[in-house]
Amino acid sequence: MSAVSTRAVVLRGHDYGDSSRILRFYTEAFGVLSVVAHGVRGKSGKGAGVVASFTSGELTAYVRPHRDLHTMKDFAATRARVGLARDTLRFAGASVAAELVLSHAEQEAHEGLFHALEHALDELDAADVTNVPGVVLAGLWTLVEALGFAPQVELCVQCGNPLGPADVGRFDVVAGGVRCPSCADTSTGPRMGPVARLQLAEMLAGAAPAALTHARQHFGLVSDFISYHVVPKPLKSIPFLSSLLPVDVQAVP
Ligand SMILES: [Zn+2]
Repeated sequence: MSAVSTRAVVLRGHDYGDSSRILRFYTEAFGVLSVVAHGVRGKSGKGAGVVASFTSGELTAYVRPHRDLHTMKDFAATRARVGLARDTLRFAGASVAAELVLSHAEQEAHEGLFHALEHALDELDAADVTNVPGVVLAGLWTLVEALGFAPQVELCVQCGNPLGPADVGRFDVVAGGVRCPSCADTSTGPRMGPVARLQLAEMLAGAAPAALTHARQHFGLVSDFISYHVVPKPLKSIPFLSSLLPVDVQAVP
């Protein structure tokens, strides 16, 4: 059997047997790919035993159709993203992104998702320390969008009318977007004013808002949205990330 090569990001790894590791990659050519890296922890190891999560590179593997576990031949790292280890929030954000991709993605190519994941990890790696919560949120929303589940933020999900620049609506998780003031009541989800709506639109477009407020409430929205629309059960890495976000004391804008 001949080996195939693809661009890939390491999302998880754990030891296997005495000298091997199982690595879970998200790849450009095959989607999620789990491989066993034989002998990488022994003296003759080729260095893959120390490949950290969220490293990108060129994976060469023996891929058998209709199998869940494949065999790694080589992984040549091209980007280590060491900045992700600079603070816990950055690393927790990358972990939620990884869990989201592993929970939903399949063993088939999805180029848009691969690029959204790489971009989200690059932005987290490079983000200014004051900007990390917004970058985490923008990364998660762009992954949600790449998976095909973006919320509707310009038009009311109930009546279809556009929300005005000063309108305070509500975010209806179940219906998948905002409700205008006429269609909103307290049972239809959390209040969402013009500032928060604009910030959500920016993050869906992949940009962290310059002065993100209410990071925790925004994170509540994206995690509720993911749990309801994208994955069958809540992501395990979400409560930890949530606990790291700053709490605002003023009212929701
Ligand atoms: Zn409406």
